[in-house]
Amino acid sequence: MARASGSAARRRALGQNFLVDADVARRTVAAATLRPGERVLEIGPGHGVLTRVLLGAGARVVAVEIDEKLAGALERSQLPNLTVIESDFLRLDLAELPPEPLVVVANLPYSSGTAIVERLVETRDRFPRIVVMLQREVAERLCAEPSSRAYGGLTVLTGLWASASLVLTVPASAFRPVPKVESAVVRLDVAASPRVPVASPSDFRRVVRAAFSQRRKMLRNTLGAVFGSATEDVLARAGIEPTRRAETLSLAEFATLADEATARA
Ligand code: SAM
Repeated sequence: MARASGSAARRRALGQNFLVDADVARRTVAAATLRPGERVLEIGPGHGVLTRVLLGAGARVVAVEIDEKLAGALERSQLPNLTVIESDFLRLDLAELPPEPLVVVANLPYSSGTAIVERLVETRDRFPRIVVMLQREVAERLCAEPSSRAYGGLTVLTGLWASASLVLTVPASAFRPVPKVESAVVRLDVAASPRVPVASPSDFRRVVRAAFSQRRKMLRNTLGAVFGSATEDVLARAGIEPTRRAETLSLAEFATLADEATARA
């Protein structure tokens, strides 16, 4: 039985549902296809279930854990090839990490899994491969195709830099305490340059955020926030029907609209 750390409210806030299924841990690590000598960043090692499998696979691991007691216990275990950093990954100065590219393997807390993935993908040159366990719904959003229910801003913004594939789904019974939701493991392969050409990634973000700001509204309405009275003209030039909704646009169509925004800035 996984040991608890702190109050129930704190454990919930930190997403402390610990993996107790050794097969899921093995399959998660296998999905990272680690090569000899590669260095791994694990975010939220908890009691070290994944950490031990990673070390067993020959990886050198840097583990960032927010919980003082868990970080201390892991540190005291003195596992070879393991460095523990006690920190909130979302606030960590990345200069504290080893300078070489790091493969990320982690069972992320539900509470901040999306924010952590966004930070990892935004810092793309440091993290070429990311294998993370997340709430199943978030994993499906990362891997969604246009016109599906799960396709949204997160899909498109991460999709500009990373191709995502669903590795496995994980039942709630694989964790203690047992959560209310299912999980899934996703692998993200991060590219050094955008997967579709785009002049300005920040304009891309601006257009995507505006388009999905009201999911049910047509582009002729939502994109007014970026293009104002020129919205219909811009959409016509891009060959995009103004009555379409954000969830139907491909990555390439978003890139075309982002370049229009750049050209008008
Ligand atoms: N890896 C362990 C496992 O698979 O059993 C624990 C996974 S548990 C879902 C999430 C872990 O992330 C917990 O140990 C929690 O304390 C830690 N955590 C939560 N938020 C964090 C953050 N912002 N930065 C670093 N660690 C965090």
